[in-house]
Amino acid sequence: MERQQAPRSREETPDPHLSQDLEDPHAQIARVMASPEMQRLGRETEAEELRLGTALSGMYRPQAERWARALREADTTVLSRICPGKHGHYGRICVLDAGHERDGNPHWGKNKAGRPVAWLGSAPDDD
Ligand SMILES: [Zn+2]
Repeated sequence: MERQQAPRSREETPDPHLSQDLEDPHAQIARVMASPEMQRLGRETEAEELRLGTALSGMYRPQAERWARALREADTTVLSRICPGKHGHYGRICVLDAGHERDGNPHWGKNKAGRPVAWLGSAPDDD
């Protein structure tokens, strides 16, 4: 009869998750973000943000024109009412009025290539 081995204690058993837990959190995030699945999700998200941005551009044209005019004229009254949502890292700035997210609307503006883009997020800036 084969002798059964007693289960090893947790301290004796190498736990691959434990070693990852001890890894530098920045290294963990970098490893996950570099994974093929995250890269694929990033491309899909960007494509959807551009698709939605284009679909909403007719509806938000007055806000885009107001924002551009306020920038040209340095109209701080108008600019102070603009949503603080921007993703500087991606070159985006939301041109809608502050507080629009409370009604379930995405941020909307143009990306650094000048294409309309819509996105979700609560952080005022993510860079
Ligand atoms: Zn916004």
